[in-house]
Amino acid sequence: MAASVETFVGETVEAVRPIDKAYQLAEWEAAVSGTPEANQRNQEAQAAWMRFWADRPRYMQAKQLHDARAAGDPLLARQLKLVYLTAARNQQDDATIDELTRLEADVRGKYLNFRGRVGGKELNDNELEAILHKSKKSAEVQEAWEASKQVGAEVAESIRQLARVRNRAARTQGFRDHFQRALTLDEIDENELLGLFADLESATRQPHAALMERINGLRSAHFGIARSGLRPWHYGDRFFQEVPPLGEVDMDGLFEGKDLVALATATYDGLGMEVRDIVARSDLYARPGKNQHAFCIHIDREGDVRTLNNLVPNLRWASTILHELGHGVYDKYIDRQLPWLLRTPPHILSTEAIAALMESMVSEPAWLSGILGVPRGKAARVAEESREVERAGNLIFTRWCLVMTYFEMAMYADPDRDLNTLWWDLVERYQMVSRPEGRKQPDWAAKIHVALHPVYYHNYELGRLVAAQFRDRILRTAGGIVGQKKAGRWLMERVFKPGALEDWGGHVKTATGEPLNPKYFARSLS
Ligand SMILES: [Zn+2]
Repeated sequence: MAASVETFVGETVEAVRPIDKAYQLAEWEAAVSGTPEANQRNQEAQAAWMRFWADRPRYMQAKQLHDARAAGDPLLARQLKLVYLTAARNQQDDATIDELTRLEADVRGKYLNFRGRVGGKELNDNELEAILHKSKKSAEVQEAWEASKQVGAEVAESIRQLARVRNRAARTQGFRDHFQRALTLDEIDENELLGLFADLESATRQPHAALMERINGLRSAHFGIARSGLRPWHYGDRFFQEVPPLGEVDMDGLFEGKDLVALATATYDGLGMEVRDIVARSDLYARPGKNQHAFCIHIDREGDVRTLNNLVPNLRWASTILHELGHGVYDKYIDRQLPWLLRTPPHILSTEAIAALMESMVSEPAWLSGILGVPRGKAARVAEESREVERAGNLIFTRWCLVMTYFEMAMYADPDRDLNTLWWDLVERYQMVSRPEGRKQPDWAAKIHVALHPVYYHNYELGRLVAAQFRDRILRTAGGIVGQKKAGRWLMERVFKPGALEDWGGHVKTATGEPLNPKYFARSLS
């Protein structure tokens, strides 16, 4: 039996490798060019990839071998399980694949080319964010915020349809809906996740309420309006997923005129990790038509790692490039001797954990003085404020993540319900932000993840929990992170090198000697 598992896995890998690579490349091309042709090729490459994994006989064989525990050694068993799970996630008929890829391409095109209209002018996301972040005029931020939501109305119906189609495929496999299927086939236990999120909700409720008191005071002073007049556009970004300016120090000002690539390279040099090759393959600055977000992609599992950014010298993009290169070094330093299927992080949340860990270095005193070059006299004050910003960021992001996760759970339970009202109910409850009076727009649909990265957001939060646990071990092992080659070695050996040998939970346990424990993250909130 073991021999036939080996053959089955070997043949699957040989067949999927070129399809996988073509798909990654097409994703990249579509993101950097944004042309209809590239988007079309992306759609075709995605459909080919999905068709491969949708193949019914392959899935049945994988399931049968997996259920029979037919693989003798753990290395082979893990590969078989990954084949089985990937095939299971993609079980849908041709008509469904066609409909999904068509809808997704349509929605993707609309997001990519969307520019908010403010007073007859078209503004890209960075320009809208700059207004939301800096303006002191209430009317101006309201206009920019509303402009940023215009895309929602363009894509909302397609997203509802995507949810219906995803649900149909999930129910065929016996799942309640796509939410449950996505978690289960991604090796996340739905009940454990919901339990964990309920705990996070109660643990953050009081500190978040206290933080909001402070933020509301600052924001009402900033705009010269009453606290009762604060609405979603007053919080500094489109979804209030980040910390608005809290104190005296102009954090963005610290990055003015700085070369973010040089800062990032120096940061990774300090860990003994080489990123120049990744940077050289990356697409770093904004252009018309280009994807306005940021991501990292490993084209071939042989070291062709690239990142996409839209760098502007400010705090957000300084942390974003560290984040994306965090994904990058993870991919790069996975043991290339591992079988192809295992040459990847064990889970998306594992790589998000590393990205979050790397991103958080901008709040370290050692980073501020050593890498950014903040003068010593100022560095202590900046560091103190940075720590506060980081704590606030964990609270704000956790509450935002609750909105996203509970929204998606409810959307897949019933895509036809009144999602516009649900969205604002959740925002008011978890983010403690007052809804705009009388607004009946699909503001939830302006968030790209809802459409194109479904049932994904919880991974960011789980990633933060894992990051806090890694961080605790690194501090114990190396005494610090910034400029600590010992910390870099710990990450490369313990975390990156093993690839997907174990599932994410086993990986955390092997790397840190303890299963995932939320106490390390909880500590960062107090
Ligand atoms: Zn990421």
